[in-house]
Amino acid sequence: MQKLSEKEKAVYEWQITVPGFGEAGQEKLKNASVLISRCGGLGSVVAYELAAAGIGKLVLAHGGNVKLSDLNRQLLMTDDWVGKPRIESAVRRLKELNPRLEIDAFDENISEANAAEIVSRADVIVDCAPLFEERYLLNREAVAQNKPLVDCAMYELEAQITTIIPRQTPCLSCLYPHKPEFWKRQFPVFGAVSGTVGCLGAMEAIKLIAGLGEILGGTLLTMDLRDMSFHRVKIKRRENCPVCGDSIK
Ligand SMILES: [Zn+2]
Repeated sequence: MQKLSEKEKAVYEWQITVPGFGEAGQEKLKNASVLISRCGGLGSVVAYELAAAGIGKLVLAHGGNVKLSDLNRQLLMTDDWVGKPRIESAVRRLKELNPRLEIDAFDENISEANAAEIVSRADVIVDCAPLFEERYLLNREAVAQNKPLVDCAMYELEAQITTIIPRQTPCLSCLYPHKPEFWKRQFPVFGAVSGTVGCLGAMEAIKLIAGLGEILGGTLLTMDLRDMSFHRVKIKRRENCPVCGDSIK
């Protein structure tokens, strides 16, 4: 376990005083790695908050070039980077904030070909992918490699988040046995909505790593920012789940 430097103790002074966290919690963050799949509206904020909080390593997977239509929510992308790779913009901005941060950067989205390898590089996964195909792949690999996964999703002014502990809590396939028919690639979104869920996802990752508070295991937190209603919904494992069911070794 790497110890905190004097500079790190100074940078993280205000969170080290959080009851139940302390220097021990900060050391756990320093020695931990988190995979964020896609650094868009959700993932940009997860990555920025974790970089600010002093996570040791981020593994980032995000393909494509920055578009003008990214800029209302993808906070690691900037106007001067339009037309250039998103992942480069993300790395540049995160390093500006925290030059101590180690980053494994992949200029591609999660796919069948790379999921196992990319998931193997991190202790915790935060799923910020908009497509169910990617979310299912990450869920499958998280369960196979026994790694906790924070699943964040949003649509318009609504959002939801849950934390999956393989074989202890329901997984994404328990929650959604089939891809919802209504799910679309492009949907209406404010950056403040994706940013809200991104902050919650970052906090879940910090809690998982530091052993702080209570995580959303077995609970789906749903929110509608149109009227600011937040609800906690209990979710159950499915014994015959093809990903985490009891018959799966
Ligand atoms: Zn399952």
